Amino acid sequence: MNVDLHCHSTASDGLLAPAALVERAHARGVTMFALTDHDVVGGLDEARAAARTCGLRFIDGVEISVSWRGTTIHVVGLNIDPANDALRQGLVLVRGSRVRRAHRIAESLEAAGIAGGFDGAMAHLENPEIVSRTHFARFLVERGYARDVRSVFHHYLVKGKPGYVPHEWAALGDAVAWILAAGGVAVIAHPGRYKLSRPELRELIAEFMQHGGAGIEVVTGSHAPEQYAEFAAIAREFGLLASRGSDFHGPGESKVELGSLPQLPADLQPVWRDW
Ligand code: AMP
Ligand code: MN
Ligand code: MN
Ligand code: MN
Repeated sequence: MNVDLHCHSTASDGLLAPAALVERAHARGVTMFALTDHDVVGGLDEARAAARTCGLRFIDGVEISVSWRGTTIHVVGLNIDPANDALRQGLVLVRGSRVRRAHRIAESLEAAGIAGGFDGAMAHLENPEIVSRTHFARFLVERGYARDVRSVFHHYLVKGKPGYVPHEWAALGDAVAWILAAGGVAVIAHPGRYKLSRPELRELIAEFMQHGGAGIEVVTGSHAPEQYAEFAAIAREFGLLASRGSDFHGPGESKVELGSLPQLPADLQPVWRDW
């Protein structure tokens, strides 16, 4: 089994269309694949059809942006019904707030002498609803403000730097409730990225589980390899299901390629065990 349950397409901030992403995953040896675009399920039909054509087991997914005590947390929903009303309506609200934030990001860049950010970011996507910092990052690279997308995030779009604006995403309990309403499993994405203290991380997990969250990413392209053991231990301690996913955004932009991560530690309960 080569499972990849976290990836992005052009339906959010990935570089490949859903079908092209699925074909690449299949070609790289992935045998079970979830598309988890940010706050949107619009790429799933195309991805599912492409997966059927090449014989790849496909899981419907989404990655929801959440604010928890002032920190942005990502919650992945796996094996969801993308047609569920509660989920769809929740995602509409989150996406609406993305467009308003994009105008504020552009104003912040403008104050630092960088004009044209809104249109510049929009030039990288068809659907303004899913505008993200990644699209601003691509605009900034294009204008020569940084060498690549990853280095943009050292100098722009993050706390204390031009283009950063605080933002209120969905509440943790709401995001988990939407995923559960859609019949899915809620998974904390890349827990090693949030810069939470150990007690805070435990409080986040306890709250997440009280709401019905059941999983955590252990092996992810967004963790350094030394973090795999750390979050495997957390999964054991809390009895959380473990997930594995590249968080692939596109060739050349992501450091981890589809299907190339190590396997989960064998004693963990994989989130896909009953699928
Ligand atoms: P947003 O949801 O609009 O705040 O955008 C978040 C997205 O920006 C993430 O999903 C990543 O794709 C990208 N991103 C954030 N931080 C970094 C980073 N340090 N390097 C590369 N991409 C990043
Ligand atoms: Mn992203
Ligand atoms: Mn994420
Ligand atoms: Mn992601």
